[in-house]
Amino acid sequence: MSAPPRPRVVIVGAGFGGLWAARALAQTPVDALLVDRNNYHAFLPLLYQVAAAELEPEDIAYPVRSILRTLRHARFALADVEAIDLAGRVVKATERSIPYDFLILATGSVSHFFGVPGAARYAFPLKTMEQGIGLRNHILGCFERAAHEPSAEGRRRAVTFAIVGGGPTGVEFAGALAELIRGPLLRDFPGLDTREVCVVLLEARESIPPGLPESLRAYTEGRLRRMGVEVRVRAVVAEVTPHAVHLRDGTVIPTETVVWTAGVRGDPSARAWGLPTVADGRVKVLPTLQVPNHPEVYVVGDLASVEEGGRALPMVAPVAIQQGVAAARNILRQVRGADPQPFRYRDRGTMVAIGRNAAVACLGRRRFSGFPAWIVWLSVHIFKLIGFRNRLLVMINWAWDYLFYERAVRLILPLQARPSSQPAAEVRHPPGPGQAAEESGGAPKPGPDGPKPSAL
Ligand SMILES: Cc1cc2nc3c(=O)[nH]c(=O)nc-3n(C[C@H](O)[C@H](O)[C@H](O)COP(=O)(O)OP(=O)(O)OC[C@H]3O[C@@H](n4cnc5c(N)ncnc54)[C@H](O)[C@@H]3O)c2cc1C
Repeated sequence: MSAPPRPRVVIVGAGFGGLWAARALAQTPVDALLVDRNNYHAFLPLLYQVAAAELEPEDIAYPVRSILRTLRHARFALADVEAIDLAGRVVKATERSIPYDFLILATGSVSHFFGVPGAARYAFPLKTMEQGIGLRNHILGCFERAAHEPSAEGRRRAVTFAIVGGGPTGVEFAGALAELIRGPLLRDFPGLDTREVCVVLLEARESIPPGLPESLRAYTEGRLRRMGVEVRVRAVVAEVTPHAVHLRDGTVIPTETVVWTAGVRGDPSARAWGLPTVADGRVKVLPTLQVPNHPEVYVVGDLASVEEGGRALPMVAPVAIQQGVAAARNILRQVRGADPQPFRYRDRGTMVAIGRNAAVACLGRRRFSGFPAWIVWLSVHIFKLIGFRNRLLVMINWAWDYLFYERAVRLILPLQARPSSQPAAEVRHPPGPGQAAEESGGAPKPGPDGPKPSAL
């Protein structure tokens, strides 16, 4: 008698949620197929270092096929998912349809511009590897342009960098950018007047990074200021244009670079695929992570809206990882005929790197800042990176930077280059689905911080 067919679990998205789900299913009586539009898993918590020319893209990415190579019963398919037939249990991807018995959706989130006019069009989001590389090219290009710009006004605009959102990503990027500029770039461009260079961090709320204890917020703000970052709190962005960011209080900051780290929302595809979403675009799931009326469909990570203690869980890597594993275990329970269990998040804490020798960490009841927090931050990130090679490369780059105040990565890749006469975003990111509506929509409001910090 032949063995009964193995249930097929299709996982869409090889980020933290999807990859950990695939790993948890690999040695079990199901066949897992992991689908992603990219052939790599990206370690997004270090993406800001790619944008700040500290790490190469390949230092923080790892080929999914290599990760799955040793796992029996877990396969990978490179495909962009375009639709899901929930009734027919079929994932429709580019040039192929993939049937499933169980589905785990882990397609993550996108930048949220809160309807601020011009933001979706002219600001640089920082969510994908392409965006990280594009931003790095743009920043390096700004210095090249400033080097031969005759007018002081034009030079100042070229080397003013506005970061919107004083959450962890904004803080980390502001610190890394300030160190890139004050170290290697001003040495590369000795003709530039340092007084013309400006990194400004704009936060709509009272302090940065929101959500951390007061002492750690004060340390973060003070440290950034000492590093030369202009921190503006209660600064609500009203409009972004190709050449300036306008604040609600009437301030205009001339700049060609507005980096948007002010908010994220669930991947808008989920709604188009017929899944029930809430206001922030995330899919409303049951406590078991299943989609209501579809016990065979799970949603995990940034895309899932799960409440604990009356609040939605944050969009951070540990939530995605734990949910990926929990969804995999629930599927195995269903295969055995048992009931799925509700998901419980174990929060291990929060960390934010500010710069050289400086970080803040809140682990359980312990709060610390400065060098000890920085060492913990470095160790956790090295430990969590996938692949020995990546860990080694990141350590070498960090050590090089630390010892010589030098960044190895300063190439402007022609692939991402754009004519300087064109507004950045016209080439970079024309409004995608939903963005045009966002631009015309309602009054701008302060957004939540971007991806929240975590101890990973
Ligand atoms: C710059 C930055 C810094 C961050 N810093 C931290 C931090 O310090 N600590 C922390 O805990 N979290 C941090 N986060 C948040 C963390 O990275 C996310 O919470 C986490 O990645 C979410 O995991 P996920 O699996 O839900 O989605 P992702 O990791 O975003 O993975 C989604 C995957 O789905 C794929 N995909 C999307 N749509 C499709 C489609 N239609 N077809 C096929 N594939 C698709 C994508 O290619 C991607 O691989 C940061 C995020 C960013 C962007």
